[in-house]
Amino acid sequence: MKKLKIWQILFLLLLVAATARILTKGPSFQNKSGKIFGTYYNITYQHAEELTQHIESVLQAVDNSLSTFNKKSIITAVNENRDTPLDSMFLRVFVISQHISQLTDGAFDITVAPLVNAWGFGYKNGLPTDSATIRQLLQYTGYNKLSYDGEKIVKQHPETQLDCSAVAKGYACDQVARMLERKGCRNFMVEIGGEIVTKGTNNKGNEWVIGINKPIEGIANGELQERLHLSGKSMATSGNYRNYRYENGKKVSHTIDPRTGYPVEHSLLSATVIADDCATADALATAFMVMGVDKAMQFCNNNCVDAFFIYSDSTGNLTTCESQGLGNYRR
Ligand code: ADP
Ligand code: MG
Repeated sequence: MKKLKIWQILFLLLLVAATARILTKGPSFQNKSGKIFGTYYNITYQHAEELTQHIESVLQAVDNSLSTFNKKSIITAVNENRDTPLDSMFLRVFVISQHISQLTDGAFDITVAPLVNAWGFGYKNGLPTDSATIRQLLQYTGYNKLSYDGEKIVKQHPETQLDCSAVAKGYACDQVARMLERKGCRNFMVEIGGEIVTKGTNNKGNEWVIGINKPIEGIANGELQERLHLSGKSMATSGNYRNYRYENGKKVSHTIDPRTGYPVEHSLLSATVIADDCATADALATAFMVMGVDKAMQFCNNNCVDAFFIYSDSTGNLTTCESQGLGNYRR
């Protein structure tokens, strides 16, 4: 047999090393970002193929089911009392939402829609927010005023309408994550408007490092307050520093207390929740913004939920507090 020359041996060794590296490291990481639900998404995943079309079709399916801004969506038909078959996404989000409403004593409630619209943060134009209007709208608000009869949503009042904005982004993250898993991805991070699902590791083989913004009004992607390390967990943040307006010198928040009918007015500026699924994290983060820091902390202790809160103390300084287990996500 002919002897191999030194350069041929070197070349072979290099080839073996490169193949071993590809086999152990797997395919490269890909990134897909874009706009959906009036916000931005950013998805990083490890896969040999580009999954753009699959990602876009999952997001479109969630929009077709749950977006109140989509005139052809299922939720719009339910809000307009038109007969429509309900799909699995709508039903799943309805069940999760009703469950979180019960757990949080109605702090989270998707029937808040008429109030959100009245205050000018919804899919319809605002109404006068005098106490008589709010009192009237409260008649139609309340998660226990509607149910599912196995076929359709049954309302006590035809005026009751649904707004899933506080849970749909988290649910969409879960749905994209499920699709990626079905395609065989073991490492990914799905983020839609600040709600996040993580699995496995990043391209350096480390846990995903996720920042929590300092809640500074008007500053998007500003300074970070915290960095948490996640793998196999979801995280969602609700805040009073991005979607709000001032009226007569008073801040009007987009988070409404469904029980009083009024925007929340307390010191809590942002609530971040870590959970196994992102729909739950998203809904709980909104509920915590309604509950305020003390009640939300109590809820976390009683229900073993991990959360991080930023609020302004009596002197107006930014202060934080967190659930017992949050330290597990720091390195
Ligand atoms: P973000 O947009 O900051 O992620 P959330 O997840 O908290 O915020 O969603 C806020 C949106 O949810 C509001 O704009 C409104 O449409 C709706 N909403 C407001 N208050 C409530 C509430 N108490 N329960 C459920 N949904 C709410
Ligand atoms: Mg939310």
